[in-house]
Amino acid sequence: MVDIKSWLQDQKKAGTLRKLRPLKRLRGGFVKLLDSPADSKPLLDFSSNDYLALSEHPAVVKASTEALQKYGAGAGAARLMSGDLEVNHLLENEIAKLKRKEAALIFGSGYMANTGIIPALVGRNDVIFTDRLNHASIYDGCRLSGAKLIRFHHNDPNHLEELLKEKRGAGQALIVVESIYSMDGDRCPLAKIVLLKEQFDCMLMVDEAHATGIFGPNGGGIIEEDRVGDSVDMAMGTFGKALGSYGAYVAASQEMIDYLINKARSFIYSTALPPAVVAASFAAVKLIQNKPQLRTELRNKVNLFKKSLKEGRITADLGPSQIIPLVVGESTKAVEIASQLQQQGIFATAVRPPTVPKGSSRLRFSITRHLSDADLEKTAAVVSETLQNLTAQ
Ligand SMILES: *Cc1c(COP(=O)(O)O)cnc(C)c1O
Repeated sequence: MVDIKSWLQDQKKAGTLRKLRPLKRLRGGFVKLLDSPADSKPLLDFSSNDYLALSEHPAVVKASTEALQKYGAGAGAARLMSGDLEVNHLLENEIAKLKRKEAALIFGSGYMANTGIIPALVGRNDVIFTDRLNHASIYDGCRLSGAKLIRFHHNDPNHLEELLKEKRGAGQALIVVESIYSMDGDRCPLAKIVLLKEQFDCMLMVDEAHATGIFGPNGGGIIEEDRVGDSVDMAMGTFGKALGSYGAYVAASQEMIDYLINKARSFIYSTALPPAVVAASFAAVKLIQNKPQLRTELRNKVNLFKKSLKEGRITADLGPSQIIPLVVGESTKAVEIASQLQQQGIFATAVRPPTVPKGSSRLRFSITRHLSDADLEKTAAVVSETLQNLTAQ
């Protein structure tokens, strides 16, 4: 039995105790921390996943408000009981179209999708090949399944191939990857993964939490951009990030969806999402299909921020996406920089081990449409200056 009191004390001493920090969200990507002194300035938020700022988009808010008025606050039951409101099917049709799959299924959240889908597909006599940096919800899904778990080096298809040769076995085999990784902002070599999936007769699941709405000509994600959708058996993603709402989905063949409706326990045994939330997601999916300028605006902001950092003589690899990792090395250094940035009105997270490998602690900047161009340029200048001052000491 854990001694809770001393555990908490130990965490506090080591500086690793997590704490909630209530805040207010203001316009323009600012947040006000409510535990800071009353006269402290709002901070620019570089840790939100509301990449396209759809959480505040008038069409999304309107659709959600109308659904709330019309259908009330809660769904009242699980989908398989009496909670299967029509709006769920409208959203699922739209997701199937976006991902060019026969069908789709909504889950309560991304966490619930991953912990529901994976154990439905594989079990004790099967094997899962997972990228080392996959999200915790994928790991938890893998553990729940009871299948043998084999981790391959991050974004390394050669290592995956070696492991497949050695450990594929005779049961079911599932490969799970993300398309854009949440801590590194880097991109999965999906075309190569697809070849291996076919060569070794595996199922392939792709988590597009950070790509849907942002990549692909229609916002269909990296699987659309790389034209590999047909080879992806389960295209999973969440509504809580670029789509500005809450919940998650998987798009797949009709047969697979029929199966998951019967097998995915986190779907079966949980109340359907509130109709106002589903309506918000529906409006958001429509927007990403009909308004490609949302993506272009975000991309321009990302490029502006990267260009400004480069002009400030930052030479680190800033990656291919809206998630920008600025690797600084030691975890104390990352924490020091994050705290100095916060004093200058910038809220960016220091990501440290065990979330990332030792010696690769970093500042993580996530760019959203909330942030103005002027604020992005200003921030880049402050970041370069802070880094240079620290190095000079
Ligand atoms: C955020 C995230 C999830 C979890 O999604 P929620 O809807 O927030 O539960 C799953 N996978 C990845 C890669 C994520 O980044």
